[in-house]
Amino acid sequence: MQASTVLEFASRTDPGLVRAQNEDALAFSAERGYAILADGMGGYNAGEIASGIAVAVLVDVLDEQLVNEQTPPRQALETAAQAANEEVFRAAQANIDYQGMGTTLVAAVFRPGRLTVAHVGDSRLYRLRKGSLVRLTADHSVVQEQIKAGLLDEQTAAASPERHLLTRALGVEPHVDVEVREYDAQGGDVYLLCSDGLTDMLTDAEIADLLTEHATVPESVCRRLVDTANDRGGLDNISVLLVRLPVETTDHNGLFSRIYRHMRRSI
Ligand code: MG
Repeated sequence: MQASTVLEFASRTDPGLVRAQNEDALAFSAERGYAILADGMGGYNAGEIASGIAVAVLVDVLDEQLVNEQTPPRQALETAAQAANEEVFRAAQANIDYQGMGTTLVAAVFRPGRLTVAHVGDSRLYRLRKGSLVRLTADHSVVQEQIKAGLLDEQTAAASPERHLLTRALGVEPHVDVEVREYDAQGGDVYLLCSDGLTDMLTDAEIADLLTEHATVPESVCRRLVDTANDRGGLDNISVLLVRLPVETTDHNGLFSRIYRHMRRSI
């Protein structure tokens, strides 16, 4: 038994009401304790190809590297994201229809008391802890740079026609600068990975309300988030992936830690 089987996952992806295709992709593994979400971009169906390749490569690399905790999550995520970048870039070079395609990426690995996040682009990771919602990723976008420089406020940025211009994307160049960060994780935390099809339609406060109201039933949170984005017009593909940590996670004598310690000893 793996430690992470006690994590609770739920997800939903939806084309929205305007786009013919769904260029978002996602995957998670309760066994390995990871969650991945990507939002592809490019002409024809290239966006779908880019996000699909990225998620498939991440799954392959993480499945291999996280077995028996042989690689630290930070290193596994960095290796996986670079491998995905190379694969998307190679596919774009090989097919004229796919030239210039790319994808965002947000991926998280959950371990007892700890969370490692890799991200590129404007797909996001939020954390709900004790009723308060925090955005753990800062978009790699032109408007986010302007907010950081004090030139824009969040509200103006959210309405800016330039809000979708990314400063980083996976697969568009031979190498990608992946932002990797680590955070403490606490029992009862709820994490939300999502694409901009959600965050364009709902404010952070509205996301917080929905997460708080339905946090005990992850599937219904996912459904409510997607339905609300569609109620507002569903202008883009909408993807959400929710991870709920059991309350025992930070209790070092708790079941989660005991299983984990046992696992470490048996390696
Ligand atoms: Mg999108």
